[in-house]
Amino acid sequence: MCTQVVHIYTDGSLIDGKVGSAYYDVTRNAIARFRIADFASIYTAELIALHEALKYAMQLHLEPRPVIFLTDSLSVINKLQNINPNSNLNYIEGEIVKLCTALRTSGRQFRLIWVKSHAGIVGNELVDSYAKEATKKPTIDIQTPVYPPSDLRRRLREEMLKEWQDTYDRYPSGETYKTTFPKVSLTPWFTKCPGKSKSFYKAISRIRSGHCVTKAYLHRIGRSDTDLCDTCQTTETLHHIILECNKFNEERDIMINSLPTSIPRPFNLATILRPDVYELIFIFLCSSNITI
Ligand SMILES: [Zn+2]
Repeated sequence: MCTQVVHIYTDGSLIDGKVGSAYYDVTRNAIARFRIADFASIYTAELIALHEALKYAMQLHLEPRPVIFLTDSLSVINKLQNINPNSNLNYIEGEIVKLCTALRTSGRQFRLIWVKSHAGIVGNELVDSYAKEATKKPTIDIQTPVYPPSDLRRRLREEMLKEWQDTYDRYPSGETYKTTFPKVSLTPWFTKCPGKSKSFYKAISRIRSGHCVTKAYLHRIGRSDTDLCDTCQTTETLHHIILECNKFNEERDIMINSLPTSIPRPFNLATILRPDVYELIFIFLCSSNITI
């Protein structure tokens, strides 16, 4: 390695919800580790590492040696190498641009280059370990305003989803529904099946909620003398209608033969109620003249 050039590696790391940034000046064996806000994205961690490295380089008044900043973040390289007067920069990107301008104005030559991660490049491996160590620091070193609002929005979304999932898991009823759909989602199921008929959405919504016109249901609410299937003389549940009833064997065979091979056998409602199967179930209902 040419000793006339200052090599500074930068890296960001996210481990167990904690985020760290680090730079490593190989030439002087100078290391700096920063724990940053837990909600920061890995991209922000990479930017902060570079920002701190640039501030450090600004303070190097020893001699006019060129500096090479090395990062394994393609996102950072792509962003900074494609900046034009119309670029929309967040705070930390803007600060980096200012520091680059200041470095240039001070007559310092520098370059920002990309290095492949986990490729045995010693400086990169070391700075990676320093960024990981930074995540274990007891307190946050870098406070606002460096964090872009998008990082906070993303973290808030994650937190809300987690809280919603906890509430959903603890809710004292809806066990069948929870077994079939154990994960809450910010995306309603029907957005994965666009452009279908009204009767499709109605039927699938009923199946998903378990609120269907079956003999078992009608009997429970006092609207049928029996809960038994006319043909099979067993309890007529939704499971029975879709997966067992002898009345619909022919139509069911067509559906079963078209099911994705990734669905584990034997089938049950919990395993077949998925967006790529809803259409098959709906065709089965229509061809069997089943109204649920
Ligand atoms: Zn039956």
